[in-house]
Amino acid sequence: MIIQGLSYEEQLEDYRLAYELLKRKLRTSYISQLIKSISLPEIRDMHRAIHQGESPRSGLLPAIDAIPQVRESLLYMSLFASLYRNASQVDIKTEMDVPAIIFAWDFFCETFPNHRRERRPYDKVRPANFSEAWAIAQALKIGLAALQYCESCHGDTFVIYNSKFPPTCQICVLDNLRKKESAQRVI
Ligand SMILES: [Zn+2]
Repeated sequence: MIIQGLSYEEQLEDYRLAYELLKRKLRTSYISQLIKSISLPEIRDMHRAIHQGESPRSGLLPAIDAIPQVRESLLYMSLFASLYRNASQVDIKTEMDVPAIIFAWDFFCETFPNHRRERRPYDKVRPANFSEAWAIAQALKIGLAALQYCESCHGDTFVIYNSKFPPTCQICVLDNLRKKESAQRVI
């Protein structure tokens, strides 16, 4: 079926993108928001076809401030956000760059093989799955989070506003905690 207003090539391009996102298990409601030419039931059918009959998980993206449970997770999130920003051709503070999210996620998975988790319990390596990666890109766009340059360690650090972790460089915080611990051991 050809949707009115879209050329055959444009529609193929939409299917190709839907396939790439489904393969990485982005929540289907987000795929449907992005790709208007394919209906949600059809996107769900595609998910089942790609994943051996497994039904897509429903629900919304995880809230950005609920993703990191331990401080170390923010280091991994900083790495992912840096990969994403470096891969992107656009201003990620105003737009979501879908090819760059895919590239950064694939690279992240290659760097940390076997870390991917679709369900709890998650470990400290976050984003744990592609939907969390998507949530990070979305948070950067809508200003719930930012990638900030740290003057003292010269690294980029991912900060989440309104998080239980203060919006400071977590590399430096962890470093200071470690120094304090070793000083106490000396005493
Ligand atoms: Zn720092």
